[in-house]
Amino acid sequence: MFPLPLHGALDPASRRAGTTPGSFAARPDVGGPRAFSSPDSPGMPPPSDKTAWDFLPPGWKRDPTTGFAIAPEGFRPVTQLEFARLGIVTPQMRRVAEREGHLTPEQVRDEVAAGRMIVPANRAHLSMRLDPMAIGRAARTKVNANLGASPVRASVDEEVEKMRWAVRWGADTVMDLSTGGDLDRCREAIVRAATVPVGTVPIYQMIVGRSVEELDERVILETVRRQAEQGVDYFTIHAGVRLAHLPLVRDRLIGIVSRGGSLLARWMIAHGRDNPMYELFDALCEILREHDVSFSLGDGLRPGGLADATDAAQLAELEVLGELTERAWRHGCQVMVEGPGHVPFDHVEYNMKLQRRVCHGAPFYVLGPLVTDMFPGYDHIASAIGATAAAYHGASMLCYVTPKEHLGLPRRDDVKQGCVAYRIAAHAADVALGIPGSRDRDDELTRARAALHWQRQFELAFDGELARALHDEDLDVDTDFCAMCGHDWCSVRISKQIAQFASGKDPAFQRGRPAPSPGLSEAQIALLEARGEASPERLHRLAARTRRAVGGEVGQKAVCHSDLVDEAQARRLQHERLAAAVDDASTP
Ligand code: SF4
Repeated sequence: MFPLPLHGALDPASRRAGTTPGSFAARPDVGGPRAFSSPDSPGMPPPSDKTAWDFLPPGWKRDPTTGFAIAPEGFRPVTQLEFARLGIVTPQMRRVAEREGHLTPEQVRDEVAAGRMIVPANRAHLSMRLDPMAIGRAARTKVNANLGASPVRASVDEEVEKMRWAVRWGADTVMDLSTGGDLDRCREAIVRAATVPVGTVPIYQMIVGRSVEELDERVILETVRRQAEQGVDYFTIHAGVRLAHLPLVRDRLIGIVSRGGSLLARWMIAHGRDNPMYELFDALCEILREHDVSFSLGDGLRPGGLADATDAAQLAELEVLGELTERAWRHGCQVMVEGPGHVPFDHVEYNMKLQRRVCHGAPFYVLGPLVTDMFPGYDHIASAIGATAAAYHGASMLCYVTPKEHLGLPRRDDVKQGCVAYRIAAHAADVALGIPGSRDRDDELTRARAALHWQRQFELAFDGELARALHDEDLDVDTDFCAMCGHDWCSVRISKQIAQFASGKDPAFQRGRPAPSPGLSEAQIALLEARGEASPERLHRLAARTRRAVGGEVGQKAVCHSDLVDEAQARRLQHERLAAAVDDASTP
């Protein structure tokens, strides 16, 4: 016998039924030194022994009695990190605990204080409609949807509508990546309408109306300040790309694929100087702290293809991102770190664990990653596979990829496809990690499925409307089978029958007699009788619409393999096999 996994139905982290009978995840220690994590495969970098507590601002001390920080006289906390360090639970932390369900407000505070969780909540956006949420390993895995007008297609209303649509389909944050149209108006409209945090990449606006070479300190700081005042909750700042890294991309198949990374590389080459975002980092920290805008430290040298993954350029930048995380924490800023991109499946765990070590557990926000490059048009699927592995091994937020990735600007349906693919990835990882309660809805749906309770299944389904439409396409009554297998072959119906009948619970139980299937409820029979459709033949005709659509015969029961075999031939085969089996059994 194989031993049962450590986590299972008796997981004490949850009062509800166990969440992880198949998971080998390490036990979480919320607020303590270790968060939810997959167990490390051999050769993985171990977690950092440091947290944000090791990078307090100058003049701060830790109270040996309470464990919280003591700030210099007269200090006023602004950011969620500063409140947490001082031991204060903010209303935003309370709201996060309410939404996460498995965390207390104090645990949220402790994770924020350790730097392993952020609550991206610009003070200006909080005065609007923002509903605070958290990004971190102890919280459920989050999904970001990218939006934004391009110079080819720009409409503020369309982008606001896309934002609402993305949230409808499960986006936890959105990024306005507009590069065309009226950028300020579009951003303002999105922030005003958004109940979720909004992120931007300020360098996009910095080069509107000027060449990247003209970028200077004044433009950088002014743009960042303006967007912070507008209420943006997190900024992607590509401060980790350094001049010394540029020779490392020379041998890549596809060079630099990050917009921000490539623009800053051009600036560095033109000026022969280091990255202005790196040089201005302390000034940027001051602006971000003032408004509690979180950093999303951009990965300007992320790989753009499998062949470039985990190369020297990517890892050199990651090292700088670790240094910048420490510096931002010293300024009291909340930080998450962005990650790759295009990563072969077998590199995913290493990438996650390396970031965890270098950036001391700061939340990792990854784009995909795509685990293959040869499926344009299906990149939402190719990347959701990588995203599931990433979320299991260390990512806290997944940036969605739509079917339009590498091809064009996503429209409404692309946004939905991307969001759904990534909700699946995030949820699958949460279940595997054993986040308490994360599997409850799966189990409820399985119960409804086992009971052949279609309406309940559709209520519990993530996209119930689609599930209902697909079911009704072939069979527009809810009965004890569906058109996939048909009545006689429905294993769920047969199992239900076994459970109810053979257990003796069924009043019609008589040993040795086949169980009669009620097939339809009384209400369904009444409905069908009213329509004159109560016969099994009619039901099978309904179930055979697809066959009819392809020109199949009408009026018989739905096709199954026994319909495809000649009856006499079937009898002969059965006879021969039975005889052979009897011979075998009687041979000594
Ligand atoms: S007919 Fe097949 S697919 Fe449909 S409910 Fe029964 S077992 Fe499931």
